[in-house]
Amino acid sequence: MKNGRILQTHVWSEMPHQIFQDGRTIAHQRCIRCARDFGFELDGSGWHAVYVGVFRVERLDEEASDRWVSQECPKQILPADDVDRATRPAADRNFISHRSRTYRAHVMKGRD
Ligand SMILES: [Zn+2]
Repeated sequence: MKNGRILQTHVWSEMPHQIFQDGRTIAHQRCIRCARDFGFELDGSGWHAVYVGVFRVERLDEEASDRWVSQECPKQILPADDVDRATRPAADRNFISHRSRTYRAHVMKGRD
């Protein structure tokens, strides 16, 4: 399995957690040392670095994903990983706009 040996340097929190999304099955695992999230897709594309949002699992961009999948576990939470997590494609714009709408609604409610 591509990158399987490198990924074994992480310490998984549990058995893979299966997520069904958009007709795909993603096996999700999180490392308890570095808190990186990885998803394994059964479509043959293998392992990807992912961000696990409230509603969806989103792949990080290719550069960040390739780096995470090919690096050994950093054995600590890296602040720079948050920058990598922010690289996921703008597929979550809907989520952000949903959040800002919710925020505005909250602000408006606060005025009452
Ligand atoms: Zn790790």
